[in-house]
Amino acid sequence: IDVPDLSVTDYLLENAHKFGDKPALIDGLSGRSIKYSELSTRIGSAAQTLVDRGFGPDKTLGIHLPNIPEYIVAFNAAGVAGGRVTTSSPLATASELAHQLRDSSTSTVVTLPAFRETVEAAAEEAGCVKEVAYVGEESGAFLFEDRGIEAKTIDSFKPDDCFALPYSSGTTGLPKGTMLSHRNLVANVQQIVQHPEHNLDMTESDVVLGLLPAYHIYAMTVVCQAALRQGASVVMLPKFEPQPFLEVLQKYGVTWAPLVPPLILFLAKHPVVDSADLSKLRVIFSGAAPLDAGTQSAVEKRLDVSVRQGYGMTELSPVSHFTHPKHNVSGSVGFLAPSCYSKIIDPDTKEELGYGEEGELCVKGPNVMLGYLNNDKATQETILPDGFLRTGDIARVEENGHTFIVDRLKELIKVKGMQVAPAELEGLILECPGVADAAVVPVLHERDGERPKAFVVRAEGEAGEAATEEAVRNAVASKTSAYKHLHEVVFIDHIPKSAAGKILRRMLRNLS
Ligand code: ATP
Ligand code: MG
Repeated sequence: IDVPDLSVTDYLLENAHKFGDKPALIDGLSGRSIKYSELSTRIGSAAQTLVDRGFGPDKTLGIHLPNIPEYIVAFNAAGVAGGRVTTSSPLATASELAHQLRDSSTSTVVTLPAFRETVEAAAEEAGCVKEVAYVGEESGAFLFEDRGIEAKTIDSFKPDDCFALPYSSGTTGLPKGTMLSHRNLVANVQQIVQHPEHNLDMTESDVVLGLLPAYHIYAMTVVCQAALRQGASVVMLPKFEPQPFLEVLQKYGVTWAPLVPPLILFLAKHPVVDSADLSKLRVIFSGAAPLDAGTQSAVEKRLDVSVRQGYGMTELSPVSHFTHPKHNVSGSVGFLAPSCYSKIIDPDTKEELGYGEEGELCVKGPNVMLGYLNNDKATQETILPDGFLRTGDIARVEENGHTFIVDRLKELIKVKGMQVAPAELEGLILECPGVADAAVVPVLHERDGERPKAFVVRAEGEAGEAATEEAVRNAVASKTSAYKHLHEVVFIDHIPKSAAGKILRRMLRNLS
């Protein structure tokens, strides 16, 4: 693929004029929209206002917003003004937010009045914030007024300048600030849309769901950029609630839904889904966490959709692998994205392994981050001298290129020196009748080192009664070797997950 030397916004707007009065962004709840023809002046006006107030190169804009159309205006305006942008979770506490604002030296924050208390406390603790703009109030109105100024990225812009500072999900430790350049993000969009065959099949006829949080790299690239570059209409929804979610899918005729496994599980199993007409939905894209084969085929059957799976991480802007509709193998994350290379290494010796062997997946390509923010040591440990980035995930690549993610290196359970992947056992438990959700973590064991322990959520009502401890144990025991068998089964009400849809296994480990 080719990667044009454009800023994220110039790349987006290069295509946008073609789509004229068609809505680019729709607020799913109020119906308010921004048309393609308005994008340039909305972004350009906001950028000019930021510049007038002293924002520019080496300054960071903090976006602390749920998914609303203004998000995209603010995000692009920061880049047009030559600065950087950091995006934070609206669920963050004041001290989590303060850490991110300080770490990224954020000078201006855009947020909603609903977050005033958290943002003010965080800004005070961080010390570097000069201005907070509230969308919907006078303090924020300046940013979103269309003054007819076309977006034109500053002349001194360089494609390899750091632009976005998303933070990793914090699944295995503290979230890490990740430096991504304009080129990284433009490249990753090209990698998922440009190839004539191996692409994500998102077109200008699509209505794309903007439910996944835009602060996280998955939606930042797939929704906020790829969908708009393709000329689709994006329906933004600030949070998941079953009824509004199903209503929005129907009302706007959503055709293409980027989702995470817990939401796909809902669509596959929840009874209320039967009452919705989702006949327009044609593609579900799954990423961010493993999607088990049972859930995938259940949702494909129930909704008559094509499920595509992708794999990636914040450090890869994020997509490095995705499935091909004609060569879909259950459980595989598919093939390398165009212009990506991979190798599998022994995590201890760093020696390269062969096809079919399990080891740490390393990826190289134009989407590999510049580095971690304020952490050269972590950058050096993660990006090898030959440019390959260590993903921290264990994978296996078959000779035909199909890639299988086994699990995270840090989360493998070590039983008698052998390794057990929680994701494999979770997939088996989910197939057990009456099980709504499951997560597996290690427990310390005197003789064996560690043993797997399952946390299981029963389906509501009578349906859940089939999920007995014995049935759960059998679901694993009937299909795996003895060392993988469950040591303990505990029933709980829900599995703790991050906003990006990942099981928070460290919280469960603390429970045990
Ligand atoms: P942190 O690095 O802060 O601990 P995180 O790794 O969860 O958090 P992200 O960058 O959001 O932060 O997630 C990337 C990780 O998500 C990958 O390293 C991988 O473990 C997991 N992942 C992403 N897509 C898939 C997939 N399709 N199948 C299995 N795992 C996936
Ligand atoms: Mg990570």
